[in-house]
Amino acid sequence: MFDCSLLAVGDELLDGRTIDTNSDFITAKLESVGARVVMRLIVGDDKGNIGRALALALRISHAVIVTGGLGPTGDDLTREAVSEALELPLHRDRRLEELQGMFFAAMGREMSPTNLKQADLIEGAVPIEARLGTAPGQWLENRGRVIILIPGVPREMRDMLEGDIIPMLSRRFGLQETGKTLTLLVAARPESELAEQVEAALAEVPGIGVAYRAMMGQIEVRLSSREEGADFAAAEKRVREALGPWVVAEGLETLEGNLGEELRSRGLTLAVAESLTGGMVGETITAMPGSSDYFRGGIVAYDLEAKENMLGVDRGLLRSRGAVNEEVAKAMAGGVRGRFSSDLGIALTGVAGPDRGGEDESPGTVAFGLADKTGTYGWKYRLPGDREMVRRFATTIILTITLLYLRGEDVSHVR
Ligand code: AMP
Ligand code: MG
Repeated sequence: MFDCSLLAVGDELLDGRTIDTNSDFITAKLESVGARVVMRLIVGDDKGNIGRALALALRISHAVIVTGGLGPTGDDLTREAVSEALELPLHRDRRLEELQGMFFAAMGREMSPTNLKQADLIEGAVPIEARLGTAPGQWLENRGRVIILIPGVPREMRDMLEGDIIPMLSRRFGLQETGKTLTLLVAARPESELAEQVEAALAEVPGIGVAYRAMMGQIEVRLSSREEGADFAAAEKRVREALGPWVVAEGLETLEGNLGEELRSRGLTLAVAESLTGGMVGETITAMPGSSDYFRGGIVAYDLEAKENMLGVDRGLLRSRGAVNEEVAKAMAGGVRGRFSSDLGIALTGVAGPDRGGEDESPGTVAFGLADKTGTYGWKYRLPGDREMVRRFATTIILTITLLYLRGEDVSHVR
């Protein structure tokens, strides 16, 4: 195994003003080429502590990746700290100095002498060009270990990691894309039921790890090979069979992105009628670039009169049955489809809680509707959680119903 430790440097990370997102990103990238992250540390902008943390990390790792503290200001101490800890002097690199000068000239800005700090290289280090900023990274091999310094700005870090560091590590240490992790996004299933299905599917496939991450109605299932020779292909096949159509996205895909792709590839348009979600469904759909190709618009019809006047829901129906039932959801879906002349209309109406809002239904009850040229369909479920969770859950469910419908799946059992 190729063991790595990560060291994140910055007072703002230590006290929580900034969340250390860099380490999550780096961990995922390293694992994708079969390296193992064995330790992650956060230290403040303190030269002694950066040095001691590095020494600790070097004891248990083949490579240590340090992010942050490479800027030009007085609190950027990573270069000095590493130099002192390894007893390797810093020297100013001519070419880096020139590049700094060119960068500032191109920006039409005066370069201050402190900026030149960024041209300091640790003896024996190879500089890594900063394509997106001014602070170069450094790659240093020392006593059989690799120490890598990367700027802390997440955008610059990601660019340097993907563009330079991962390829360099792969070449130098023969690391390879493992292909032995798989992330599946499952929507609108209860977590306990999902876990049981996955565990049952993996019962006869040893050496496969599984991790779950629940996000308001969507659950990320991550499979990874834990042992040499584990039959990952068999595990993947069994888990996919067990989860069936509920896998709404894979890898970096999203539910709303895939829904958009289905609509676009079929040349279909969509309109939304929302009540309890107050625009959240439209917001989610339009977060995708290019959604104007398929999203016609939405109506937030919160009270009964709005449902009647804006969407044409029958007044008698609203009076006799209230706003939270399949019939109203179907009428809203049909109504919004007509108003926007879209191919599909979808709708949701429910009780977000914590009180009943004048409805007979208990909090968490949500009705969903879908209308196409052949007719209308309705569902009603009881969703768990507080107001925020019910609203997010409901958003996930209507998007899932729509995606599954477009994929030609049986949508009668969504819950
Ligand atoms: P630095 O390289 O220390 O000057 O950091 C530059 C910027 O990147 C600062 O705004 C930091 O808050 C941010 N940053 C540094 N390290 C991290 C990290 N580990 N995760 C997320 N953001 C970071
Ligand atoms: Mg900093």
